[in-house]
Amino acid sequence: MRIADYSVTRAVLERHGFTFKKSFGQNFLTDTNILQKIVDSAELSREVNVIEIGPGIGALTEFLAEQAAEVMAFEIDERLIPILGETLSAFDNVQVVQADILKVNLAEQISRFRNPDLPIKVVANLPYYITTPILMHLLESGIPFAEFIVMMQKEVADRISAQPGTKDYGSLSVAVQYYMEAKVAFIVPRTVFVPAPNVDSAILKMTRLPQPAVEVADEDFYFKLVKASFHHRRKTLWNNLQAYFGKDPETKDWLTRSLEVAGIAPSVRGETLGLAEFASLARALEAEKG
Ligand code: SAM
Repeated sequence: MRIADYSVTRAVLERHGFTFKKSFGQNFLTDTNILQKIVDSAELSREVNVIEIGPGIGALTEFLAEQAAEVMAFEIDERLIPILGETLSAFDNVQVVQADILKVNLAEQISRFRNPDLPIKVVANLPYYITTPILMHLLESGIPFAEFIVMMQKEVADRISAQPGTKDYGSLSVAVQYYMEAKVAFIVPRTVFVPAPNVDSAILKMTRLPQPAVEVADEDFYFKLVKASFHHRRKTLWNNLQAYFGKDPETKDWLTRSLEVAGIAPSVRGETLGLAEFASLARALEAEKG
């Protein structure tokens, strides 16, 4: 029997009088086939450490602990800590940390792995209300995570993995694809969770690129430019750039010169530009600055 078997999950929840907290995005997986597919996608071994975000009652943690060197699982809900102590008692390679993942100093935490030199993968069924902040927290931590194999709303997975010129492509696609190659591994129907969420989910596999996808002098400026370019999706790049940088003649002149140097027509929409084109534009804007 597995923790994720429906009858085991029900029994654990009942024994502890556990009630779901919607505000923590608590939708627990009760399908062992899906869990097996997630760990298969993660390609774990005893030479890989795993970070899990939101273990719940340990449905996924159990599968991870069986294959990884060590699992460090961050759970915000203090009511789940004694439950996890019980459900995962057979494992000596799991550390459960009661914390809000967004407030965790990741560098400090990962130094507590028994073997901190092993590659680290993040494998999780994420709390959906903070999918994007969690991903940005992980990416911006500067820690060279090898891979993320994470479940999220299908709609967000589609946005992250979208290519230029599609309706889903936006600043989130650029932000993640700057660091990682992102691919939807498989779709998960809402029926395999208790309680069932009101959206379908997807497992997104993100593999770290050996270096950022494009070369930019100032990452902050690059991401500001990307955000500005997508600000009003129906407006042209020219309108969005003016709205962000200013409409005075000097600024307009600077923008015109930079677009020309980058070889980008002002009349295009931001969503048609790939990461490399945003990088050329960022370089041109910096070079043409008076
Ligand atoms: N892994 C379990 C499973 O698949 O059945 C539970 C997944 S459930 C979608 C998300 C989990 O994340 C819940 O256990 C919730 O309490 C936890 N969580 C929510 N916000 C969190 C945060 N800020 N930091 C850490 N854990 C959080």
